[in-house]
Amino acid sequence: MGKASRDKKDIYYRKAKEEGWRARSAFKLLQIDEEFNIFEGVKRVVDLCAAPGSWSQVLSRKLYLLAKQSPALKDGELPLIVAIDLQPMAPIEGVIQVQGDITNARTAEVVIRHFDGCKADLVVCDGAPDVTGLHDMDEFVQSQLILALKLFFPVVTFAKPKSSRNSSIEAFAVCENYSPPEGFNPKDLYRLLEMVGSPSGVDDLDCSNGWLEGPNKVYIPFLACGDLSGYDSDRSYPLPKVADGTYQSLDPVQPPIAPPYKRALEMKKASSQGIRDLEKLSLDS
Ligand code: SAM
Repeated sequence: MGKASRDKKDIYYRKAKEEGWRARSAFKLLQIDEEFNIFEGVKRVVDLCAAPGSWSQVLSRKLYLLAKQSPALKDGELPLIVAIDLQPMAPIEGVIQVQGDITNARTAEVVIRHFDGCKADLVVCDGAPDVTGLHDMDEFVQSQLILALKLFFPVVTFAKPKSSRNSSIEAFAVCENYSPPEGFNPKDLYRLLEMVGSPSGVDDLDCSNGWLEGPNKVYIPFLACGDLSGYDSDRSYPLPKVADGTYQSLDPVQPPIAPPYKRALEMKKASSQGIRDLEKLSLDS
């Protein structure tokens, strides 16, 4: 699919380039914020799985750059934004980058150091558990995730932003009012999850908020968000023409600086070259 044709088929892809976002995902976070007001009063925020950085750009524009314009705020009072990814990403004003694995405790320690030991007000994450294709296993991992969320947050909603295609099953969990179980020790996380995950362990839990009552079902509200009369991510829109009647497609704002597919492309190129060399050799001999 050519660039112009993608511009036509994917309005959010085109709008992202026009508005300077590195990826169309920026609109997903903006639309989640429209519904849930997640940026209100936020001073410390972590962006997990951040590359190429469109969510970090949203955080930078909505929190850091906005606060920077306020004459009342001094340098030390500006919001702190820490972005983590396995991949490096091009710099973004007001965003501290940490290259690391979000599942590694050492990465968490680095973030905590940046926050001087204080807790984050907001954590955003655009990563998802890998799908194995083994449906039982995938369902188990997803259920564990939902149970873990409900264990730490009394208010959980699944949000489907308007910019997320209907044809995709993608949705985002919005978890509010962090309140870990009393006496919770992060080192016990796996034991706690095992207890929730096993039918015999359920009896040991305090179910006073009722989420495991009845047939042990957890119902999570599912909410569409973003301006519902706005752009439909599954529709094709006509391309705006310039004066001479042609359409000018824009280049992506910031291509990934070290994408994981780069090495694969290099290997593919080297192997095609090798085949060409062999063919040439056999023709010459
Ligand atoms: N929110 C990003 C944006 O708006 O530009 C897009 C995120 S992209 C869908 C998912 C990212 O998750 C990839 O850049 C990948 O490197 C990162 N990722 C996957 N597993 C990770 C892990 N264990 N630790 C850190 N980053 C991870």
